[in-house]
Amino acid sequence: MSLQLIQQYLPSYPAHLHAQIAQLHREGKLGHYISQRYPQAHHIQSDKALYDFCIALKQRYLKNAPLPDKVHFDNRLTVEKQTLGLNTAISRVQGGNLKAKKEIRISAFFKTTPAEFLTMIVVHELAHLKERNHDKAFYQLCLHMEPNYMQYEFDCRVHLLWLALGKMETELKQASTLQRGSQEK
Ligand SMILES: [Zn+2]
Repeated sequence: MSLQLIQQYLPSYPAHLHAQIAQLHREGKLGHYISQRYPQAHHIQSDKALYDFCIALKQRYLKNAPLPDKVHFDNRLTVEKQTLGLNTAISRVQGGNLKAKKEIRISAFFKTTPAEFLTMIVVHELAHLKERNHDKAFYQLCLHMEPNYMQYEFDCRVHLLWLALGKMETELKQASTLQRGSQEK
């Protein structure tokens, strides 16, 4: 069960990393692995603060990319839906012209993650302003904005995995309590 989740959350990483993570999980050390590496929360809670954070990064590293029209947190983007950030260009008619409004949406989940994970997802979505696909050029841009991008992405996935494992174990416990309850009747 847990190995399946590990493969699901870390799909493109080598088996020896899966094994290391499984080991940490068995020892109950997965939460500690994250909290000790990333003790720092952040204060970016509003759409305005997120917009300012995003634009500051863009102006610093991606001067030539177009400015997004809107940046905001979105409650509807969840891990279950496999989407934590979105980049959209919505075409609207404006003064007789068709204008594409660029919008960056970040899952509200990142309000409560370590600062580094918010940086990671914002960098990811900013890179999409220039590169559509997850190819070499895309990751080079990510690394240009955040040299630790790869490590943050991996650790963010581990953080998500840890949450999912916790949820799964709680559900299993509840199910077995229910089962015991009905057997006793
Ligand atoms: Zn992407």
